[in-house]
Amino acid sequence: MTAAEQETTGLGNYFIANYPPFSAWKPNFLPDALAAVNRPPVPGTPLGLYLHIPFCRKRCKFCYFRVYTDKNARDVETYTDALVKEVELCSRLPIVGGRKLDYVYFGGGTPSYLSANQLRDLMQRLQAILPWDAAREVTFECEPGTLQQHKLQTLRELGVTRLSLGVENFKPEILQYNGRAHLEEEIHRAYGWARELGFSQINIDLIAGMVGEDWDNWKDCVRKTLTLAPDSVTIYQMELPYNTTFSKELQMVGEEAKPDATKVADWPTKREWVKYAFDQFCANGYEISSAYTVVKSTGNKRFVYRDALWHGADMFGTGVASFGHLNGVHVQNVDTWEAYIEKLAMGELPLGRALPVNDKQKLIREMILQLKTGHLERDYFQSKFGKDITREFEAGYKKLESEGWLRMKPNGVELTPAGLMQIDRHLPTFFEPEHASKRYT
Ligand code: SF4
Repeated sequence: MTAAEQETTGLGNYFIANYPPFSAWKPNFLPDALAAVNRPPVPGTPLGLYLHIPFCRKRCKFCYFRVYTDKNARDVETYTDALVKEVELCSRLPIVGGRKLDYVYFGGGTPSYLSANQLRDLMQRLQAILPWDAAREVTFECEPGTLQQHKLQTLRELGVTRLSLGVENFKPEILQYNGRAHLEEEIHRAYGWARELGFSQINIDLIAGMVGEDWDNWKDCVRKTLTLAPDSVTIYQMELPYNTTFSKELQMVGEEAKPDATKVADWPTKREWVKYAFDQFCANGYEISSAYTVVKSTGNKRFVYRDALWHGADMFGTGVASFGHLNGVHVQNVDTWEAYIEKLAMGELPLGRALPVNDKQKLIREMILQLKTGHLERDYFQSKFGKDITREFEAGYKKLESEGWLRMKPNGVELTPAGLMQIDRHLPTFFEPEHASKRYT
C-alpha cells in the first residue's frame, strides 16, 4: 500500500478492541471455554457483566454491530427472556466464586430502545439473579431520540450510574445522511433531563469524519458539546469496516455506484479534528484519559468498564454475538437471533467461538490496550506478569520512538501527542507474527 493510500479512509477496521484478533477465535476452542467457566476465579480478579440489547430504530450506515430494526414487542420479550435465562446460567457457574459484580454495561444496539416498563422488568429480574448493588459502575448506552424523562427516571431508580449518549454529530443533514435516527433538539432535551435527574456521569459520543463533515461543522459540534459540559467525551474516528451500508456502497460498480460513500475525510484530517477537539476540551477544564476520551478534571474521572477490560478482568458477555473474557479464555456468543434463542431454550450457554489466551498473549493484550491511555507503567507489568516490558517489547518501542510516536521513560513508555492520535494503527507492531496481518473481525 502506498503512503497516499494509507491516508485515505479505505475499507477495513482501524480500531483494535482486543488481542489476539477475533478472526483467531474458533468454535473448536469451546471445550476450553467450558472448562474455564467451570473453574473458580483467579483471586483478586473483578467480575463484570455486559448485556447486549440488539435493537435500533434504524440502521446507521456506518454500523457493523449485530442489530435488528424489524423486531416487535413480542420479539423483545422473547429476547429479554433469553437474556435473563443466560444470566441465570452464568450466575450458577463456578467462575463466579461468590464474587459480586464490579461493573455492569448495557450496550448495543440501543438499550434505550426498550420502554421504561420493559427496562424495569428486565433489570429487576437481572438484579434478583446477579445483584449489582456493589457495582462501582452501571453504564447504559442511549440514543437521544428514544429517551423520555420517565425512562431516564426509571434508569436512575434502577441503579444506572453512567449514561452514554450517542450524539455523534449535531447537524441534521449529517445525522440524516449517515442514517442516525435522532434529531438535534432531542440531544438537548435528553441531556437536560439526564442532568436534572442527577446521573453521576454523563458521556457524549462523537464521531470525527461522518460523511458530509467539514471543519466549520466540526468546530460547531465541539462548541455545542462544550456548552453541554458532559463529564466525559468519547471521539471515534470514522472507519469503513466491511458489512456496513457505506462500505457496500463503496464497493458498488457501474450505475449502481454511490460515490458519496467515499466522502469520508482522510485519516490526517480526522486526526486533526480529534486533536482540535482535545485541545478545546483541555483548554476548558478537561484532561485526556485515552486516545478517544477526555474527562472533566474536577469530576468523577473513572471509567470502570474500560479500565477493567484493559486490565484483564473477567466479564460475562451476554446477548447475541456478545464478547466476554473468562478465566483467561476469550468467548463470543453465537451471532444469529435464531441460534441464540434456541440455545437458551435448551438451557445451554449460547457460546459460539472461543480462544484460550496464553501468558504471552495476555501480556501483549494488556500492554497494547493500556497503551491507548498514552502511557505504560513498567512496575504494573513487572508485578502482574513478572516481565519487564521495556525489555520484552524493546524493539517495538524503539521503532515507534524512531518514528516519533513514543518516548521511552525510566519507568515505562509514553506516547507523543501525534502517537496517541493514531495509536491503533501502530499496535500490530507488537502482535505475534501469526496475528500481525489478520483481518480484525
Ligand atoms: S444506533 Fe448504534 S448500534 Fe444502532 S445502528 Fe446506529 S451505530 Fe449501530
